[in-house]
Amino acid sequence: MNSPSRRTFLSGAAGLFAGAAAYNLMGYPSENPIDKSSTEYVPEGNRILLKGGCVLSLDPAVGDFESADVLIEGSKITAIGKNIEAGSAAVIEASNMIIMPGFVDTHRHMWQGAMRNILPNGTLGDYMNNILGEVRAVIRPEDVYIGDLVSALGAINAGITTVLDWSHIGNSPAHTDAAIGGLKESGIRGVFAFGGGASGPENKFPEDIRRLRKEYFASNDRLLTLALAAGINKEQWELAREVGARITVHVNGTGQLLPFADALGPDVTCIHCTRLLKEEWQLLADTGAGVSIASPVEMIMGHGIPPIQHALDHGIMPSMSVDVETNIAAEFFTQMRSLFTLQRMIVHQRKRENDGDSSGLMTVQDILKFASIQGARDNGLEEKTGSLTPGKEADLILLRKDMINVMPVNNAYGAVVLMMDTSNVDTVFISGKIKKWKGELTGIDFNRINRAVHESRDYIVSKTGWNEILFGKTIG
Ligand SMILES: [Zn+2]
Repeated sequence: MNSPSRRTFLSGAAGLFAGAAAYNLMGYPSENPIDKSSTEYVPEGNRILLKGGCVLSLDPAVGDFESADVLIEGSKITAIGKNIEAGSAAVIEASNMIIMPGFVDTHRHMWQGAMRNILPNGTLGDYMNNILGEVRAVIRPEDVYIGDLVSALGAINAGITTVLDWSHIGNSPAHTDAAIGGLKESGIRGVFAFGGGASGPENKFPEDIRRLRKEYFASNDRLLTLALAAGINKEQWELAREVGARITVHVNGTGQLLPFADALGPDVTCIHCTRLLKEEWQLLADTGAGVSIASPVEMIMGHGIPPIQHALDHGIMPSMSVDVETNIAAEFFTQMRSLFTLQRMIVHQRKRENDGDSSGLMTVQDILKFASIQGARDNGLEEKTGSLTPGKEADLILLRKDMINVMPVNNAYGAVVLMMDTSNVDTVFISGKIKKWKGELTGIDFNRINRAVHESRDYIVSKTGWNEILFGKTIG
């Protein structure tokens, strides 16, 4: 229900919200004007004008505006500027909002959605044994489906409009199909990165990527695109390139990339990179490969020091990733603050030790680029998303400025990076469709999903035996 204290108005919604909004005397909708039972709120061809918001476009050619309008037509952003004349477009009053591109996550193991927060004190070793060992051995396709679905919906709820699903749960084609099904149902913009899983006769990694390309990804023009969640393995990389899939790879060791000078390229994203040699950093810089840093996970679980300073020293803009929800909050405010805090600590400490200057301090503007446009680049989607640019897909979020945790907003970038949290994520558009509205996910059957994810969790912990030892539903 909308409360009268909310300064968000709708008007001119010709057809779009027809018949749903009965306005009361205060001029506020008396009930949520969106039919939550439908996922098709914004049919193709509809036009929506976001009016008078503080716009952070993340596109230098567009710039930022203290107050401007954004016009969405069908799935695309078509105009950004002051006082856009949009005729009969539906108008969303956004004067109390920051409008910016949705966040982009470049690596998350979404099949683990039912295992959220089960290893709060766990290390990388615990994760390998408990999740990649025990859980992966017993997990069913329906667990993968619901894991992917809750993970994706959690992402949307937090303003993440694009996520790369690093799906190393290819135990069988049925597991793989279930992951794609969960992603697809959520309506998120996703890169499905097909990965290996528990070994067995049904595990068709990596060859099954040929089937996936034909069956689900015949066109790159859809909400979901294809990648290979590969090892550091030249044959796998060749196969990915053969089917036109990007390559995403964990690089946790030292020296592993040295033989890959000829294989690295801008279609490869290297994850973690906490222990690379100087020569390997130079290789990444020279070849244009991407770097995805999962800083909270790396610090908490023991991968090593997140390599933000190495990346910056080599002129590489990193993207960011949640990685595992078994340990980490599935949103980007934590990501941004972790990396910002760490980088500035490193530079300040360098200054103290060397009596040098503190140049090189990262800014809140830098970190928001990593969280949006750089993520889009590392997911191979720069042409489609990652900034508010006319012609790009309308993947954008409206963040509330009129809340007790941020008001008064005196610096928009600072508010987003350092002050806000998921409670500020009011509205989320993906490909022009409203996926979150006035703080609520739209078009989902919450009770069904809630039931299914609990049943899945109960099944998994009964199989691993953790139901005997769980305390507060965690094993860590
Ligand atoms: Zn990972």
